[in-house]
Amino acid sequence: MVRYDPLTPAERSERMSRIRNADTKPEMIVRRLVHGMGYRYRLHARNIPGNPDLAFRPRNKVIFVHGCFWHQHGCRQYRQPRTKHSFWEPKLARNKARDAEVIRELRGRGWGVLVIWECQVGKEAALRRRIKRFMERK
Ligand SMILES: [Zn+2]
Repeated sequence: MVRYDPLTPAERSERMSRIRNADTKPEMIVRRLVHGMGYRYRLHARNIPGNPDLAFRPRNKVIFVHGCFWHQHGCRQYRQPRTKHSFWEPKLARNKARDAEVIRELRGRGWGVLVIWECQVGKEAALRRRIKRFMERK
């Protein structure tokens, strides 16, 4: 029996690449790591300032996973876009200002905040140590 694929080859390939991308996204990697370490979290909690990527309510802690470009890390991975400077610059500056604002507000309300940058996600052992330290901090 021949299985009928409702998608065209182009659609199929587009969908597969999307799945692959979702899987390798820094946020997914961090989620898997944190979950594997035995911590349970809520995703994008809407009632916490900044809707943190991961929230640990009983511990009063949140983790943000930031893309180096969108959040202006200033690392080597981050590149200033060469085109449309006038378009990107205010947008990225706003992102950065909003991040700082959110972190200030969270800390002011007693939340522990950990920001994990995209460029740090590949170093798993170091990341694991950092998460553990953060989660165990009083
Ligand atoms: Zn970075």
